[in-house]
Amino acid sequence: MPTTDDITPIRKQYLEIKRQYPDAILFFRLGDFYETFDQDAETAARELDIVLTSRPIGKGLRAPLAGIPYHAVENYLARLIDKGYHVAICEQVGEEPVKGIFSRKVIRVVTPGTLVEPGLLPGDANNYLACIVVEEERAGVAYVDITTGEFAATELAGDDLATALRAELARLRPAEILHPEGLRLPEGTPGHSTTWPAWRFEPGRSQEALLRHFQAGSLDGFGLRGLPLAARAAGGILQYLTETQAAAMSLLTSLSTYSQTDFMILDAATRRNLELTETIRLTAEGAASGERGRVKGSLLGVLDTTVSPMGKRLVRQWVSKPLLDVGRIRQRQEGVRAFFENGMMRAGLRQALRPLADLERLTNRIVGGTALPRDLAALRETLRKLPGVVEGLETGDKGIGDRGSVTSVQLSKSESLSPSPLSPVTMSLSLCQDELAILEAALADEPPATLATVGVIRPGYSAELDGVVERSRHAREWIANLEPAERERTGIRSLKVGYNKVFGYYIEISHANTGLVPPEYIRKQTLVNAERYITPEMKEYETLVLNAEERIREIEERLFREVCAQLAKSAPVLLATARAIAELDVLAGLAETAALNGYICPQVVEEDVLDIRDGRHPVVEQSLRGERFVPNDTIFEAGERIRVLTGPNMSGKSTFLRQVALIALMAQMGSFVPAAAARIGVVDRIFTRIGAQDDIYAGQSTFMVEMVETANILHHATSRSLLVLDEIGRGTSTYDGVSIAWAVVEYLHNHPRLRSKTLFATHYHELTQLADLLPGVRNYNVAVSEVEGRVVFLHKIVEGGADRSYGIHVGQLAGLPRPVVQRAGEILHQLEKSSGKAVKIDPESPRQLALFPETNPLIDELKEIDVNTLSPIEALNKLYEWKRKYVKKEED
Ligand code: ADP
Ligand code: MG
Repeated sequence: MPTTDDITPIRKQYLEIKRQYPDAILFFRLGDFYETFDQDAETAARELDIVLTSRPIGKGLRAPLAGIPYHAVENYLARLIDKGYHVAICEQVGEEPVKGIFSRKVIRVVTPGTLVEPGLLPGDANNYLACIVVEEERAGVAYVDITTGEFAATELAGDDLATALRAELARLRPAEILHPEGLRLPEGTPGHSTTWPAWRFEPGRSQEALLRHFQAGSLDGFGLRGLPLAARAAGGILQYLTETQAAAMSLLTSLSTYSQTDFMILDAATRRNLELTETIRLTAEGAASGERGRVKGSLLGVLDTTVSPMGKRLVRQWVSKPLLDVGRIRQRQEGVRAFFENGMMRAGLRQALRPLADLERLTNRIVGGTALPRDLAALRETLRKLPGVVEGLETGDKGIGDRGSVTSVQLSKSESLSPSPLSPVTMSLSLCQDELAILEAALADEPPATLATVGVIRPGYSAELDGVVERSRHAREWIANLEPAERERTGIRSLKVGYNKVFGYYIEISHANTGLVPPEYIRKQTLVNAERYITPEMKEYETLVLNAEERIREIEERLFREVCAQLAKSAPVLLATARAIAELDVLAGLAETAALNGYICPQVVEEDVLDIRDGRHPVVEQSLRGERFVPNDTIFEAGERIRVLTGPNMSGKSTFLRQVALIALMAQMGSFVPAAAARIGVVDRIFTRIGAQDDIYAGQSTFMVEMVETANILHHATSRSLLVLDEIGRGTSTYDGVSIAWAVVEYLHNHPRLRSKTLFATHYHELTQLADLLPGVRNYNVAVSEVEGRVVFLHKIVEGGADRSYGIHVGQLAGLPRPVVQRAGEILHQLEKSSGKAVKIDPESPRQLALFPETNPLIDELKEIDVNTLSPIEALNKLYEWKRKYVKKEED
């Protein structure tokens, strides 16, 4: 072990800093490089595919080293963060080295949830850092997006906390989750997990962090009274930011608390099953690599036609958080309707929004002190275009004024008889003319990218700056003019003005002419055949020229900061405007989608109704090629609670179930819906359970998952919930499956808390009997017609139970050889004849099976099968298996 005396001072400095950041990769700034050492270097070299070398660190000692050029840091950061590493950025501070080395400081720890680099952030989604604290039966959840300033906290409770937590995290999709050591996050939680020792989340510490940050005397004002865990989670976030990204904290000007009762509750499985914001991963590889699904093909993919980044983030939030309050839903609907009915206004607005920059994130960069000159130029461009945004909006909103003019809008509102449906939104939209005026006055037309280059500030803005610029120009001209002027004055024709680093500007005169040198010349240097002189005046101009650029840079930087500080004061107005723009964008976007796809405005009501005429699946209807999507009604009649839907495979059961859920959800987010007419009573929760599909849950215990999810429904559904149960019980043996499915339907039907509206698709024909036993249960099936012995799926839902399952026909469609299909038909026929009894195919009377010799192994297998409990799917699988085993063999 080397002693400290053996190692270089810079190595000492490195080790000291590294000791404070043991869990992060330390990017140590040395000149134009960020260097990593030791273990960090090995990690960086491996993960970033860069060269691992070594560097002397003392007498005969070397340390592993891997470096990256500072100007390419973003790209490398992205790759490390993506892999879950944290990176501490250590910069040189101060102008001058002290005792030979610069002092250095970690200015920031980059983690997935604390990114601010525009290039590393998803433009269309928020980048959340979440924090979770759990105690007994309660959990505190807080989350922050430091690029938009959103900071919120809530508390979850209940007997199934894990599910509630999973649902909340599924909604947020945080990039990073901070939590105490020892807390196990629910399985499948998105985002990178960051653990801290439990004491950091103690109530006292957290409270202190909150009070200090908000400079408040009590937490009550934040709605945190009685929510100690929410406060601890929020406090945890603040402490974490202090250590990772302190500069961003000034953006967090408020903390809102929310309650899950404001929004329709959608658990993680339901979000996934309904493919709200991304498609379900279809391949096992996708599942293994944790690859996210795609937006295209999800509900969001259909609904998001927004044209601004702010709108994109908001529409995602709306899809993730359908409302429960009829008033608020209708308010959004009215906004959509205004744009739906006025195509010109819609097109005009969208056109006007398209060129706008991300006002929300720009503002936050200004407040956070990371804005660059080009950011201000983008802000100016955006503010210049705001009048164009408002121009096309309806006359009812004429009140928008120069200043955040809430008052003038209110005035015009009280004057006009029918306020525009957009008023609630445009009310918070300001044209920000004061802010624009600041930018127009201060910022150069085309400012450079960074403050390192002069030319940021517009001429005429600052007398001081202009003075320096003017004097420097004058000085430059004066010096440029010096040679001819002095030749003229002194009569020395060979007089020269030169420049070197040691003396600066000088006047050179050959020895032959020294007699003519004016008295004010001061001799500085003697050369072989010439003398060099300076004059005090010349030195003054020289100082002006040489210092001017540095001075200009300084003054420009100061002015730039002043402008930013001034604009930062307007952050609330700018952010409110950004949000109003986002909302207009979403409303117009939803109207655009509705117009393009022929949606109608659903009637959303308090009563317990569900009445959808000619409903369609918003996503599937767009994916059909050359085929028409067959619309279906969903009309729950009085007393009807549970619909048992039977029908062959591939007939459209799952599509129908999801379409009903999606229509209800779209209605509650304020969107129009794909139907001819709809009356929808507010739904408090949507639950979906989709029976095991091997391609989705590759490798998991499917039946266990299914049962856990079913249990969750039975515990939490209410009479105002909408349940979508698709083939539950499928993951187990047929007897178990039917029994469970049966019991679930009974329980749902009879339990006074439940009686939820339920759509239940099943291939267990036995369940159709329930309709005879329970008054709230009705049978439906998907109509099928047979043309010349072939099955045609009509995708039409009709009343009554399906009489046959058509599994064999599906087998035929799939290309099973004709003999297999025929034989399966015969076997099925025999099985059906003996329905109701647990019969086996009788080996004593093998009349039907005479085709096979006694020793045929197929017969042995047939004997083994309990046909009465065989579902069509299983029968089909058996057929596949037999085909593989026996038909192939014969062919060989
Ligand atoms: P099931 O659940 O009964 O097996 P799906 O709902 O998965 O059937 O539907 C199978 C396919 O049938 C869908 O992928 C779609 O292409 C088509 N389909 C479903 N419903 C309709 C419909 N209403 N109109 C037209 N095609 C449909
Ligand atoms: Mg299905």
